Amino acid sequence: MTTTTDRQRDLDLGLIWLNTFAGLGEDFYTPVAPQQLPEPYWIGRSPSVARALGLGDAWLGSDELLEALIGNRSIAGTLPLASVYSGHQFGQWAGQLGDGRALLLGDTADGHEVQLKGAGRTPYSRMGDGRAVLRSSIREFLCSEAMHGLGIASSRALCVVGSDAPVYRETTETAAVVTRVAPSFIRFGHFEHFSYSDQHAQLKALANHVIERHYPKCQGSDGVAGNRYAALLQAVCLRTARTVAQWQAVGFCHGVMNTDNMSILGLTIDYGPFQFLDAFDPAHVCNHSDHQGRYAFNRQPAVAYWNLSCLAQALLPLIGEQQSAIAALDTFRSAFPAALQTLLQAKLGIPEQSGVDPALVQALVDDVLGLLAQERVDYTIFWRRLSHSDGGRDRAAVRDLFLDRAGIDSWLQRYADGLAKLPAAQVSELMLRTNPKFVLRNHLGEQAIRAARNKNFSQVDTLLMLLESPHDEHPGFDAYADFPPDWASGIEISCSS
Ligand code: AMP
Ligand code: MG
Repeated sequence: MTTTTDRQRDLDLGLIWLNTFAGLGEDFYTPVAPQQLPEPYWIGRSPSVARALGLGDAWLGSDELLEALIGNRSIAGTLPLASVYSGHQFGQWAGQLGDGRALLLGDTADGHEVQLKGAGRTPYSRMGDGRAVLRSSIREFLCSEAMHGLGIASSRALCVVGSDAPVYRETTETAAVVTRVAPSFIRFGHFEHFSYSDQHAQLKALANHVIERHYPKCQGSDGVAGNRYAALLQAVCLRTARTVAQWQAVGFCHGVMNTDNMSILGLTIDYGPFQFLDAFDPAHVCNHSDHQGRYAFNRQPAVAYWNLSCLAQALLPLIGEQQSAIAALDTFRSAFPAALQTLLQAKLGIPEQSGVDPALVQALVDDVLGLLAQERVDYTIFWRRLSHSDGGRDRAAVRDLFLDRAGIDSWLQRYADGLAKLPAAQVSELMLRTNPKFVLRNHLGEQAIRAARNKNFSQVDTLLMLLESPHDEHPGFDAYADFPPDWASGIEISCSS
């Protein structure tokens, strides 16, 4: 049992906290303690993240950790803080933003930063309450781990804990806190903040911090034109290209690609109104508040480039020469299509050095995406059925997805002919580990949220289990890999969270 005196003592998790970000100095943040919430309960927990953090197994069930992660007890060795950043939101300069509801507890000796999201007001909360609601916290928890399971760079989530304390959005909801973990939560917006406010010494300190900790190769003189800051920009372009290509390949729509939601490490961060596509609509807009469709699925690569150009602008005082910045930025323009091509080719079961004519591969990709769009075919189900089609020879289940049978038949024939020389077992093996069976569709998240409102968290556990290994068959769980129900198209997810 936890006594009052226990609660007053800092909780020692047995981790070594270095608090490197705090070492940058108070131009970069404000120390803030989490605000308390009453009667916390566990909603979802990830033992795999606990292991990655080096937390002993017993902690994830303990009342002590529960109290600490809801903000009721301090953790020994941490220095909770809210960092300041700025950013472009929906294409406009938004000025100063900052961690309005996330607190960085610190970073561990193993290189993990730990944040509490929804832990209460900070000096950067503006009009907000510093809280996050149950529904969006469950979505963030599950999607962080789903992305990791898909092999897509992302912040991770140790757990989500709740309290019945009311939080006011369009209706009265309840509070939750997600404990998220990443090598760094630094965003493009951190750089924009110091650049736009002419704090160039701080801008340099921040860039050096990121280079030393996360991009050590940029330190050498072999960076772009021997310029470590141009080299940093180039490295960020490459990582962003890779991550966004993975989003496009798996059918993930982020929903709010503002520069303050862009990770300097190319991680997927700040899960809000995201969606995995159901029917394939290239112009799909998942964020109900995005009236212009700025962050539509097929605009994500262009938006990533636009955001990278904001980062380039912010780094210009350090890079010095505009030409070097432009050269670094241009990396994205070749890296993104190359990364996407490789991923789409793998979805078809064609390995990189396959000997299949690249022009044929390109035509197969373009044509199948055209057919999927034309008939709004379910994106995940199509690729999974194709993976089970013996290289296009076993057609029935794939054909069933299309009204235009002649169109898909002729495509399948070209596909089967194109792959004829590749070993069939190798093709299906590559496809089954590339095309997931399970993705976090909106309706699955919604069902887990509805049950969680009634204090039934078993759906959260089930989804976590499936999404951690989304390429496995998981016999008995086919319902989670099925078409969305009709009501799924009525789910509206906005920025309100
Ligand atoms: P987001 O769209 O969630 O990435 O948030 C954009 C900005 O608004 C960030 O600076 C957040 O910290 C802040 N913010 C969002 N929701 C809240 C809230 N409920 N309370 C305080 N700040 C918030
Ligand atoms: Mg954000």
